[in-house]
Amino acid sequence: MLSASLEALIISDRVSDYLYDADAAARFPGVDVVISCGDLPYHYVEFVQDALRAPLYYVRGNHAQAVEYGAEVDRRGPQGGVDLHRRTACHLGLLMAGFEGSIRYRSGNYQYTQTEMWTFVLGLTPALLFNRIRYGRYLDVLVTHSPPWGVNDGADPAHQGFKAFRWLHRVFRPRFHFHGHMHVLGSRQSVESMFFKTQVINTYGYRRMTISTSERQTRLESL
Ligand SMILES: [Zn+2]
Repeated sequence: MLSASLEALIISDRVSDYLYDADAAARFPGVDVVISCGDLPYHYVEFVQDALRAPLYYVRGNHAQAVEYGAEVDRRGPQGGVDLHRRTACHLGLLMAGFEGSIRYRSGNYQYTQTEMWTFVLGLTPALLFNRIRYGRYLDVLVTHSPPWGVNDGADPAHQGFKAFRWLHRVFRPRFHFHGHMHVLGSRQSVESMFFKTQVINTYGYRRMTISTSERQTRLESL
């Protein structure tokens, strides 16, 4: 039996002192799932998951380390989490899928050309069609590091979004697209947009959301 809604905490790009604190569990009670949109230290993401005692789903950002060296353990990703890159997952009735990284703008890992991202997105089509058959819908939440092309993105080469995400929105109609990569520097910067049927949300820092799993309503609580 699925609950009517779930509480999600979505994080990206900026370590929050309010969250990275011994009182985190008291400040964020009742979180059912933690979602990371990348460009955060792996040990920080693990802390959030452990403190809130919630399962973690994540993608890596373009600044992710191939290996994050630590005093006791070397991490190749947040331990105990589910890497959503190029795959789908279902948690408490919430259908998720994800893609890591940003547009390629220099040498380094976790950066992709528009063509490479098209390949990734098209490669996920069978899994999304399977969702439709099994659950009656393709996708609830798209989790990426980069925004879509022309939606919450930037004009400079490092912050241009991916065109393939726009196609995914039109065809598979996720209710939400959570992304990072875009640092919020002023109140005039767009952090929420509607594109086709999808609410595209920049999760810079953290967002807590109540997501209905039985009807198409949400309550956005905080930035
Ligand atoms: Zn980034």
